[in-house]
Formats: sequence, structure tokens, C-alpha cells
Amino acid sequence: MNRFDYVRPHTISDAIKALATPASRVLAGGTNLVDLMKYDVDRPDCVVDINRLPLREISEMADGGLRIGALVSNSDLAWHATVQARYPLLASAILAGASPQLRNAATTGGNLLQRTRCYYFYDPSTACNKRDPGTGCSAIGGVNRIHAILGASADCIAVHPSDMCVALAAIGAVVEVEGPNGKRSIPFHDFHRLPGSEPQRDNTMREGELITGVVLPPADFGAHYTYLKIRDRLSYAFALVSVAVGLTLKADTIEDARVALGGVAHKPWRDDAAEAILKGQKPATPLFRQFADQVLAEAKGQGENDFKIELARRAIVRALHQAAAGTPQDQSNKSVQ
Ligand code: SF4
Repeated sequence: MNRFDYVRPHTISDAIKALATPASRVLAGGTNLVDLMKYDVDRPDCVVDINRLPLREISEMADGGLRIGALVSNSDLAWHATVQARYPLLASAILAGASPQLRNAATTGGNLLQRTRCYYFYDPSTACNKRDPGTGCSAIGGVNRIHAILGASADCIAVHPSDMCVALAAIGAVVEVEGPNGKRSIPFHDFHRLPGSEPQRDNTMREGELITGVVLPPADFGAHYTYLKIRDRLSYAFALVSVAVGLTLKADTIEDARVALGGVAHKPWRDDAAEAILKGQKPATPLFRQFADQVLAEAKGQGENDFKIELARRAIVRALHQAAAGTPQDQSNKSVQ
């Protein structure tokens, strides 16, 4: 491990000053950064420990939304009474991820910033454009069973590993950041990015910015939702494919539909045009299949992960049925219903 400075600011402004140090990294729960440093994938010059910042509040907003501080742990968020009652899709997605111990340590901001779990990214002896730009992508033509089927580029086919972010994409959250040039709000669909020719950039944050919170808009699909996660084993595994669905039903007709996919792209995947197909229609298998076909129209396998296209098609249809019927995926026994 390389030598680095360690600072522990007490205010957001001091944290932002510390983040001006080149090659500085934010330490919150440490559930990803510490691994990256141990594996010699990331070698920061300065680690900025933000655990003393006042960012642990969950507060109700005047418009019916909810503001989540960046340091709220995944466990505290999943079991918060308002989240359980009004955003059960988010609670379900969080509880589908990692382990109880990791969820106790991992934070809201850190979940957004966790890096891909591509095997090559964690192995500095291999070529990886995300770790070392310009070296190539070992996963293309290599071991790529867990990799992307949507939105990949010739430089990177990695996927974003989060479950929580898939639900936040479906809900339409907003990420609040603060940096040397002040505060700004980033709609969730603009926060993570596709790899393109710069796979080293996971998101659209600017140099020296810090996530301070995530805002949830008022939601209206507490009754018709599901987070369906398909993985190689039933616990402590990343998604091969996951589907977050929130529906608003009026008189058996779909008034609003939000569908996001995880495990298939460099960011949680939403398709607004496809969602329009569902609106104004009655829930039915042919409709759900038509929706899945449109979402996956541009899907492309990389060889070992070709199975993900059909897996995603079936998972989408099943998740839409679960949400429409009001029978969400059970995250306590984790077997796929
Ligand atoms: Fe690196 Fe992306 Fe290729 Fe994985 S898929 S080896 S992260 S460039």
C-alpha cells in the first residue's frame, strides 16, 4: 500500500478544501475504497474521512419528498419508517444487496460511488481502460459472464454493481453535490454515465465535488412495486440482472410506470420511450413482452454473457407481473417467486 495523508474535517467547507488535493478520495463506510487500496487499484495521495460531517439525517420535505443525507447507512435507510411505508421499492432493493454487516457500514453516497466489480479492474496485472486508461479492455474477448449487454463501448463493457441505485433510478431521485463552485442538483439519470471513450469516469461529478444528499420525489407506487434480483447464489452476490418496477394503477389501468434494470449496463438502465408503451394499458403478458422486447432491442452479448439477454427479457416480464399484482419479491427468503 502506498503512503497517503489522512484528514478528518468537521465541516463540509473544510472537506471540500481537502478534496482540492490532487488524487484525494472520500472515505465514508470504506466498503469499496479500502478494498481498492488493498488491491493496489487506487492509490490516493490524500484520504478525506467525512464521517464527522453532519450528513446523517433523513428528513421529510414540504412537497412530500424525502431528503437522505449522504452518510445515512444502507441499513438505517432500508429500515426507516417512511422509506418502508412510502418507498418500499428502495427498501427492497437495499435489502437485496450485500450482507447485513456491509449494509451497516455502507453509506448512501458511497453506494452511488462504488466501482464496478469487473474481475480485471481489480487485477492490476491485466489491461483495463477503467483502471489505467489506454491499456485496453481484457474483458472483451475474455471472461465476461457478468458484463454489459446494453450501452457498452469498444473501450469498456463493465456494469454498475449497485442494487440501491437501480431503485433510485426508477424512483427518479436527485443527487445533491457541493464543490468549489457551490451546490448543484443532478437528476439521477444524468448522474452515472455510459463508458464511451472515457470509462475511467463513472459519473458526472466534477473535480473536488462531494455528494451531500439524495432527494426522493413524492412517490405514488407504494402498493405496486418489486425489486427482482437474479444472481448466481441467493445471498451476498451481485446481480446478473435485476429489475426495479414501480407502477401506479387506477381502475386496473397503468397510469404511471417506472422500470429500471441493473446488472446490464455501466449505469442503471431506463428507457422512457418503452415505459410509454405501458401507460394507459391493462397489465397483461403480451404487453409486458412487448415492453421487454423494446428495452432489449439494442442488447448485445459479449459471448459468455449472451444468456443475459433472454434472462433480462424473462425477468422484466416477471417483475412487471409481480408489481401489477402487488406481490413484490420477498427479500427475506430471497428465493425468486
Ligand atoms: Fe476494465 Fe471495463 Fe474492460 Fe473491465 S470491462 S477490463 S473495467 S475496461
